[in-house]
Amino acid sequence: MASAVQTIHLRMPFNLGAVNCFLIKGKNGFVLIDTGTSNNQGKVEKALSDAGCHPGGLKLILLTHGDFDHAGNAAYLRKVYQTSIAMHAADSGMVEWGNMFASRKKANGFIGFLATLIFGFGRAKRFKPDLLVDEDFDLYAYGVEAQIIHIPGHSGGSIGILNPEGELICGDLFENVKTPALHSIIDDLKKANASIEKLMEYKIKNVLPGHGDAFKWEEFINTWER
Ligand SMILES: [Zn+2]
Repeated sequence: MASAVQTIHLRMPFNLGAVNCFLIKGKNGFVLIDTGTSNNQGKVEKALSDAGCHPGGLKLILLTHGDFDHAGNAAYLRKVYQTSIAMHAADSGMVEWGNMFASRKKANGFIGFLATLIFGFGRAKRFKPDLLVDEDFDLYAYGVEAQIIHIPGHSGGSIGILNPEGELICGDLFENVKTPALHSIIDDLKKANASIEKLMEYKIKNVLPGHGDAFKWEEFINTWER
């Protein structure tokens, strides 16, 4: 079956690899999952436009978590498309204050370095989300058949989005840069493991990570060792 989810691949600056955003076409508009780094503003707009998503047609921007490489264009796109930004409450401090450790136990030097020195999740890119969401949030009201699953581990407010086709947009709980794996930056391993256990209760076919290519859930979970 053709996927209802379109992946938008974006190159990050400074050879930092790539990041994905996802555009879901709904009944009467689109929902954008994540927004990429701010060097990609034009690319995201073009991808949206090519898909037929214009101002008025983007019903919601939903963030898997608050890191700058996922939230970097959210404030800009909200303005251009006159839409709302939704995310989990636990990560809102990351985007409101540019504090990448708002929902984390450990101050990870690498993320901190990138966020503050290189990208400068600067004031212009910071924002207050319009909607704080959790598993009871109804995406169907935005024309999209999918559910939110709270999957902390990479950050406290990380969420996944699962559609009826069994495609899971997992944010940065997993990555597939070389091979499918837990993301290299896990703030709370216990929570990450609990999130994986939780995901095993759902019908998942393919995982669409924030970094790297989609992978088959079954192949990953069969070889997963905690
Ligand atoms: Zn992240």
